[in-house]
Amino acid sequence: MLTPRFGRYLAAMLCCAALLGAPAAHAEQVVVYTARIEQLIKPMFDVFTKDTGIAVKFVTDNEGALLARLKAEGKNTPADMLITVDAGNLWEAARAGLLQPVESKTLDANIPTHLRDPQKQWFGLSVRARTMVYNTQKVKPGELSTYEDLAEPKWKGRLCLRSSKKVYNQSLVAMMIAEHGETKAEQIVRGWVANLATDPLSDDTRAMEFVAAGKCDVTLVNTYYYGRLLAKNPASPLAIFWPNQAGSGVHVNVSGAGITKYAKNEAAAIKLLEFLSMEKAQHLYAEVNMEYPVNPRIKPDEVVAAWGSFKQNPMNVATAGELQAAAVKLMDRAGYR
Ligand code: FE
Repeated sequence: MLTPRFGRYLAAMLCCAALLGAPAAHAEQVVVYTARIEQLIKPMFDVFTKDTGIAVKFVTDNEGALLARLKAEGKNTPADMLITVDAGNLWEAARAGLLQPVESKTLDANIPTHLRDPQKQWFGLSVRARTMVYNTQKVKPGELSTYEDLAEPKWKGRLCLRSSKKVYNQSLVAMMIAEHGETKAEQIVRGWVANLATDPLSDDTRAMEFVAAGKCDVTLVNTYYYGRLLAKNPASPLAIFWPNQAGSGVHVNVSGAGITKYAKNEAAAIKLLEFLSMEKAQHLYAEVNMEYPVNPRIKPDEVVAAWGSFKQNPMNVATAGELQAAAVKLMDRAGYR
């Protein structure tokens, strides 16, 4: 962990090492600000250090706090890399001028175009699919089809949704705006609201608990929450359905990373970013949180693979950031709390 005091110490060390012309000092470590918890990321950092001799120091906090800290620290930040979840958050970090573009053949080869920033300021490292989970005693999979269909009257009183305050459904609605335009997207969201069985729920797990308890029939969640819930309660009458397979595909998002604008250990940080896109790290990264590897050559973990394969929406996930503000306003207008 990196304390503010250590940060100052580190900045002082870097300054003087530079003055003394000690070249190795710069390449020997990378400082990471991460919104992903220690248990997810430390195993990969340990392998990276073992392979390269480059130490990784990291600070974990929520994305809002880390972005605020990067903004406040400006040029003096000790951070070389930011790791966070959701393209909306990564997009915001880039928009705020906190990241820098990275040219890397390795990253270009390992990460599909739609899962990284067209301006190359951030790169997806794992994929999260936002899909349908339904009650197997109340819904036949043949009744389900698309996100849009959940706005139809046949789902009245049968839908549960997570609160619109969380970025996940904001990103989904942003992508629907890009696909359908605001007017149609708003009609769909209004249809969802009209079909709600309960007020929007605090999180994905709670939404699935409501579905399992029969309080509603179907909800929208990131699949890793489904994996966690099923690991805890294997008898839950819940199953995954992959929507929009005949059309635009399942809404996906990423967790990802970028190199900070004022990185002091830029070369080492790029090495770490590339490492995170390669086989060794991709296995670990996706597996620990039951996500999907971003690198299409790496197979998902067995538990995740058992949920079946699906077509992803190929729209660039940066769209979720670009249209996030519009999505929040639209959800508000539509009465989605
Ligand atoms: Fe999550």
